[in-house]
Amino acid sequence: MNKPIDIPIKVVSSQSTASAAVGGCGAPQEMAVAARQAGKSETLDRYATDYPKGPHDQPQSMCPAFGSLRVGLRMRRTATILSGSACCVYGLTFTSHFYGARRSVGYVPFNSETLVTGKLFEDIRDAVHAQANPEKFDAIVIINLCVPTASGVPLQLLPKEINGVRVIGIDVPGFGVPTHAEAKDVLAGAMLRFAREEVMAGPVPAPKTRVADRPTITLLGEMFPADPVGIGMMLAPMGLAAGPVVPTREWRELYTALDGAAVAAIHPFYTASIREFEAAGRPIVGSAPVGVHGTEAWLQSIGCATNIAQSAIDAAKNAVLPAIQQALSASPVKGRITLSGYEGSELLVARLLIESGADVRYVGTACPRTIWSDADRQWLESKGVRVQYRASLEQDLEALHEFNPDLAIGTTPVVQAAKQASIPALYFTNLISARPLMGPAGAGSLAQVINAAIGNKSRFDQMHEFFESVGDGDNAGVWEEVPKAHPEFRELTRRQLAKLQKARKSEEMG
Ligand code: SF4
Repeated sequence: MNKPIDIPIKVVSSQSTASAAVGGCGAPQEMAVAARQAGKSETLDRYATDYPKGPHDQPQSMCPAFGSLRVGLRMRRTATILSGSACCVYGLTFTSHFYGARRSVGYVPFNSETLVTGKLFEDIRDAVHAQANPEKFDAIVIINLCVPTASGVPLQLLPKEINGVRVIGIDVPGFGVPTHAEAKDVLAGAMLRFAREEVMAGPVPAPKTRVADRPTITLLGEMFPADPVGIGMMLAPMGLAAGPVVPTREWRELYTALDGAAVAAIHPFYTASIREFEAAGRPIVGSAPVGVHGTEAWLQSIGCATNIAQSAIDAAKNAVLPAIQQALSASPVKGRITLSGYEGSELLVARLLIESGADVRYVGTACPRTIWSDADRQWLESKGVRVQYRASLEQDLEALHEFNPDLAIGTTPVVQAAKQASIPALYFTNLISARPLMGPAGAGSLAQVINAAIGNKSRFDQMHEFFESVGDGDNAGVWEEVPKAHPEFRELTRRQLAKLQKARKSEEMG
């Protein structure tokens, strides 16, 4: 029986909790104020520094917690448990299985009473104890979503370890972490921190597979499975090997990641993870080996960061650059392109497209600007590309209309808008970021899908022509009589709602 403890949970005003539960992601300011009142200021301040916001302060894509959930679910011998409103958990569970999780998502439900009395924390603690079976798990991840974070559910009070199973509690509210990409970093950073403290406390078990005969380069950011293999081949002439990819697939890989000779920040937004690597004394290298220019500069930076002789760096370049050039020339891309996404690899893809011959005008990324993507930004800007960090949907759409491209690569709403305007479009996440990008394999991988999409322009024109007479917006469809707009109805409803709200307020005050 666990001894009861005094839990520092502050009751969130019923209004804030209700707006989160009912309005979902729609009340970020109130939720943030509530979270601060409930003792989460330190966490929110750290997120504000790690993941600077603006122009949009609220996710315009999926719930950010999906990033942390996905990282937890992809790790072997790791249980991932959510604590949050049922509707949020439903959406997150659905999305994780849509993306092939094949793993159970744990859930500690709550109601108003368990939330405000602190019983929810007790329930979470019981759930963690019940799951802590060292035969099955190395780690248990517990994720506070918006409402428990706003209510100050103190995951930091959970035991660090139960029966040898590590317990990692993180707050991932939509009002503190702007994108799901950065939420991956929240969990990866928390795990690296835990592993680093273990390393500092004494010897740790060796991973099952690891390169022991050469220094390794840790790769930061999710990438196509063939890319680490290709990177390993490019590093070989320098006497280096590719290390694990962070977020890792198992706990012990975290030790190898921390043991790398340097860390390649392939995805540049992993701020918390980079903090842990820097605390472990590991140099960080930005950008990635994409295209001829990108690969040349990256190999040089890696060689310098790991004190490799210039002759070996040159040997690595000579071994790979001609093959990349050949692959690029063999698969040219012709056409004007705008590109936007929220994966964090948008600038790298744009570099590759430009080296393939494409006329890229705009790159929007939902991720923030960091020093680790500076080289890519400068290179793109030198080619006349407009680079927009923390791009909002509105900015992506503006670019689409301004540049009228032959192809728009983007998020779902951008792709939809492009197709509506008869512009061929490809969804970044499923069709572009699920391909190799690095080295010779990456150089030729995009051309086929891009050129095929651009070649489809006439089909879009035909469809446009075919559907032109069926109207659009509210009037789309086949009607006996075209529907007439009645703005006065909406105005009436708006006035009624305002009146109701006013009456409720005066009731509360009275
Ligand atoms: S947890 Fe996610 S889905 Fe739920 S309210 Fe927060 S941001 Fe929205």
